[in-house]
Amino acid sequence: MLSQRVLNLEESATLAMTAKGNELKQAGKDVISLSIGEPDFDTPRFIKDEGIKAIEENFTHYTAAPGIIELRKAICKKLLRDNGVEYTPDQIVVSTGGKQAIANVLLALLNKGDEVIIPAPYWVSYSELVKLGEGTSVIINTSIETDFKITAEQLEKAITPKTKLFMINSPCNPSGSVYSKDELSALADVLRRHPHVYILSDEIYEHIVFEGKHFCFAQFADLKDRTIIMNGASKGFAMTGWRIGFSASCKEIAKACTKLQGQITSSTNSIAQKASVVAFDRDPKTMPEMAMMLSKFKERRDLLLSMLKEIPGFKVNVPHGAFYVFPDISYYFGKSDGTTTINNDMDLCMYILNNAYVTLVPGTAFGNGNCIRFSYATSNEKLIEAVRRIKVALANLK
Ligand code: GLU
Repeated sequence: MLSQRVLNLEESATLAMTAKGNELKQAGKDVISLSIGEPDFDTPRFIKDEGIKAIEENFTHYTAAPGIIELRKAICKKLLRDNGVEYTPDQIVVSTGGKQAIANVLLALLNKGDEVIIPAPYWVSYSELVKLGEGTSVIINTSIETDFKITAEQLEKAITPKTKLFMINSPCNPSGSVYSKDELSALADVLRRHPHVYILSDEIYEHIVFEGKHFCFAQFADLKDRTIIMNGASKGFAMTGWRIGFSASCKEIAKACTKLQGQITSSTNSIAQKASVVAFDRDPKTMPEMAMMLSKFKERRDLLLSMLKEIPGFKVNVPHGAFYVFPDISYYFGKSDGTTTINNDMDLCMYILNNAYVTLVPGTAFGNGNCIRFSYATSNEKLIEAVRRIKVALANLK
């Protein structure tokens, strides 16, 4: 009955693990969720107020498919101010979360069999959305030893005449790796030699960087026309539920995304769009809420890292951005507590869920089955308790 398209599609692992945890919660278990990646902070007051005002003023109807002009202008202002790149509103398409921006771009660009180069580990939805677009993912593997970053040589080797798109995500979900300007520059040099390749730069974690500096890929002026920036309000402004993402691209791609979106969703939620105008309009450097979130995330990262280092067999890199840690846990493969044997990352996640009541996400969903992902977008107390329980559970694996 169902289409091959949907049968081929994997369920989103981040959402699936969170749902499993919620089932146990409903059964009365005290589950700590470290699976979903979303800030646990409230949306800043000045943004919420705009949303309330929009409802009160009956701004509750369809909007233009690519988004209201005030928001597209505010995004252009943000791109110039924060990222040093110039766009006009007709190059911006506001979408229902960053996920839809990515889906729009892939569906707009891919023909059957087109190759999309994705460095692993990658966010769970990339490869699945490529499948939806009938493209072929070409994965470049990395490991903890290289801080989960690809090199120019690896990129060069992966490019073929069929390559349509190269996807890059810095800061990266799930590794937290942040590419420096020089590292991106080396990749840009490769891409210059292959003018048929587009670049999709997912910059959704740009405001969550602890060391180093976020660099916007579209700053390579000669590559700007074939770069599509994807970003949104979810992570930086703690607005995941408002579902505001956007793409910034050449006009032709923006028009194609608008056409797709016009058929699929008409437009993004009008109230969330209004609220997001003030979010993007304000200089993040003047937002105490953002400074507070960043310092809390850093404190939690340091805390979690120090605790994970104490767990036997966990190999951990130092993530410089986003709010995830992606330890290599392959040490546990083949170990057993006498009843359950751990054969892979999923087994370990399920073992931890069933014995420690902590939800994590298996690395296979991110293209690296030696690792599991911790989201530390939660309180210190919960992190401490989660790691305590995990340690106890893992000590039984021999
Ligand atoms: N980006 C978040 C995560 O990785 C949100 C969940 C999702 O849509 O995958 O957990």
